Amino acid sequence: PAAFSPELVRGDFPILHRTVNGHPLVWLDNGATTQKPRQVIEAVAGFYGAANSNIHRGAHTMAREATEAYEGGRAAVARFLGAPSPENIVFVRGTTEAVNLVAQTWGRANLGPGDDILVPVLEHHSNIVPWQLIAKETRARVVPVPLEPDGRIDLDAYADLLSMRTQLVAVSQASNVLGTVPPVKEMTALAHRYGAKVLVDGAQAVAHFPVDVQDLDADFYAFSGHKLFAPTGIGALYVKPEVLAGMAPWQGGGNMIESVDFGRTTFAPVPHLMEAGTGHISGVVGMLAALNWLTSFDRDAIAAYETSLMAYAQQALATVPGLEVLGSAPDRIAVLTFTLAGHDPAEIADWLDRDGIAVRAGHHCAQPALAHYGLESAARASLALYNTSQEVDQLVASLQRLQQAA
Ligand code: PMP
Repeated sequence: PAAFSPELVRGDFPILHRTVNGHPLVWLDNGATTQKPRQVIEAVAGFYGAANSNIHRGAHTMAREATEAYEGGRAAVARFLGAPSPENIVFVRGTTEAVNLVAQTWGRANLGPGDDILVPVLEHHSNIVPWQLIAKETRARVVPVPLEPDGRIDLDAYADLLSMRTQLVAVSQASNVLGTVPPVKEMTALAHRYGAKVLVDGAQAVAHFPVDVQDLDADFYAFSGHKLFAPTGIGALYVKPEVLAGMAPWQGGGNMIESVDFGRTTFAPVPHLMEAGTGHISGVVGMLAALNWLTSFDRDAIAAYETSLMAYAQQALATVPGLEVLGSAPDRIAVLTFTLAGHDPAEIADWLDRDGIAVRAGHHCAQPALAHYGLESAARASLALYNTSQEVDQLVASLQRLQQAA
């Protein structure tokens, strides 16, 4: 792999060289979405400039090329996740669509009255609400798994809540608000003892550390391209082979059929069965470029760098009077959600924006996790591989000025 350094990779991101409100951009909103390297931008532009075609349709050269690119993207995602085969990868719009797909297909077929779906309190709304919707229809129950004060999942409570009624555990591999990285592999092994399936939300994990779905033994694994340096509107769902084989189609339409007749319609094999209609072809092209770009580096070096940057940020933020970081779980990604005494989160974000620093303020689509800390809203700085300690210094200096101005 190529040597990794944040200074080196910054050169690949044109947007990191712009200014905001007269200051060089400091992008600390990576939990919401990551910026795109020129390799991704050029791949998408190259597709529309020289290779645009629909796929799987018509035997002309460009349709064949587009099909190869699309299926090449699927194979790359399979390799990236350690999936046994490209057939286990379904392209979706993102994590949200992946979870809804599983709820509406697998959930509808497998949930019934008295069944439990276990969902930790730290989950993103997109890993709560789809379960509430299908639970209402099937008369199953969504059971929250409580948190420890430091933001870890209460594993004793989890073990107690698991039972033969548990059909599914839906858990994030990394929390977007507390940064917590739960022991998903151990949680999955425990769930499997009760015959429950496990869906892992990898939205915040994939950009930060290598993932192996077979090692996790996940039944479902979802992520969004846009949090992984790829375009918006494209994501992937991994489904374990034996689970995928039994799944009913989701949406109906073109591409997911073998033959259609008013008497009887037969279906295409998985994963195409799950991909009705024209897919986001340029999105897959961009995703392939993003995966090629990211995996060209030593990913362990990236993870180690992010861990050290996170430690630096924690220490630096501790010097700001009245600042409190939410969650102190030892295993975590570089997400710092914080409050600042005397200032509401929207005011903090607005102040930082005037210095060109982008952070998010609000409930981060994780209201139950914030409620665990008695909060409705907080500010969040989320770091990526291209962030530097100088940027952390700028964040801290700006927050200190805000406290002095008060
Ligand atoms: N899960 C987690 C943990 C997330 O952070 C997000 C995005 N903030 C999602 C799911 C939803 O992702 P998307 O909006 O791309 O579907």
